[in-house]
Amino acid sequence: MDDLESLADDIRRADTVVALTGAGISAPSGVPTFRGDDGIWDRFDEGQFAYGRLQRDPAGFWDDRVALQQELFGDDPEPNAAHNALAAMGRAGTLEAICTQNTDGLHGAAADTVVAGAGDDSDDDTTILELHGNAQRVRCQDCGHRRDSEPIIERAAAGDLPPTCDCGGVFKPDVVLFGEQLPGAAIQRARSLARESDVFLAVGSSLSVQPAASLPRLAAETGATVGVVNLESTPCDSLADVVYREDVTTVLPRLRELVTE
Ligand SMILES: [Zn+2]
Repeated sequence: MDDLESLADDIRRADTVVALTGAGISAPSGVPTFRGDDGIWDRFDEGQFAYGRLQRDPAGFWDDRVALQQELFGDDPEPNAAHNALAAMGRAGTLEAICTQNTDGLHGAAADTVVAGAGDDSDDDTTILELHGNAQRVRCQDCGHRRDSEPIIERAAAGDLPPTCDCGGVFKPDVVLFGEQLPGAAIQRARSLARESDVFLAVGSSLSVQPAASLPRLAAETGATVGVVNLESTPCDSLADVVYREDVTTVLPRLRELVTE
C-alpha cells in the first residue's frame, strides 16, 4: 500500500476530514500568487490596498483596486481538478470543511458546479470557511449589504469613484485588508475543526502565515493524520504523516478516486 492509499484509507475511516487550502491550489487556475517570485506584491505596492487608505482616500483606493482585481481575476479563473476533487469529496459526505486562505471564491464555484450536476442533496454540503474573505463580493461599510463585485468593479473602472451603496455608504472589497483583524469567529471555527479532525489535509499552502500555519499542528496534537500537498517544503512537513511535493491537480483527483471508489 503506498502513502496515498493509506491516506485514503484513513479518510474512509475518519468521522471528520478537514482541508486547508492556500494559493497553490488556485495557481493552476491562473490566479497569480501574492508573494514569491513574480508575485502580485512585486508589481503592486501592498500599502496602497490597506484599510487606512480606503478610509482616507476611498476614490484612490478603488482606482488601484480595479487594477488589482483585473490582475487577479481578469482571465475569469475557473475551479481546477483540485478544487473539483475536494468538492466531489464534499458531495460524497467525506469532507466536513474547507478552510481557505484564498479570496478567489473558487471553492464555492466548484461546489456550485458539482451541485448543479448532481441534483439537490444539501445535507452533505461542505462548510467553506474563507479566512481572508472573498474578493468576488463587496460589502457596504455602512449598512453591511453584500453584492457581487463584478458590476461594482465595472462601475469603478468607468470612473464612478468610489463606488457606493444605495444607502450612500462606500463599498469595501469583502476581504481582510492590511490593517484589519482577521474575522475572529471564522478563525475560532477553523481551530475547532482542526482539533476535531481525524484527517487534516493541507493543500497548496506554504503554511508560513498565521493563523493557517497553526492549524496542522493543532490537528496533529489531537491525534489527526496530517497530509501535506505542496510543491515546496513547509514548516509542517516534519509533523505530517504524509507529504506530497507534487502538483495539487495530480494528487487530489487521485486521492478522491481512492477515497470514493
Ligand atoms: Zn449600504
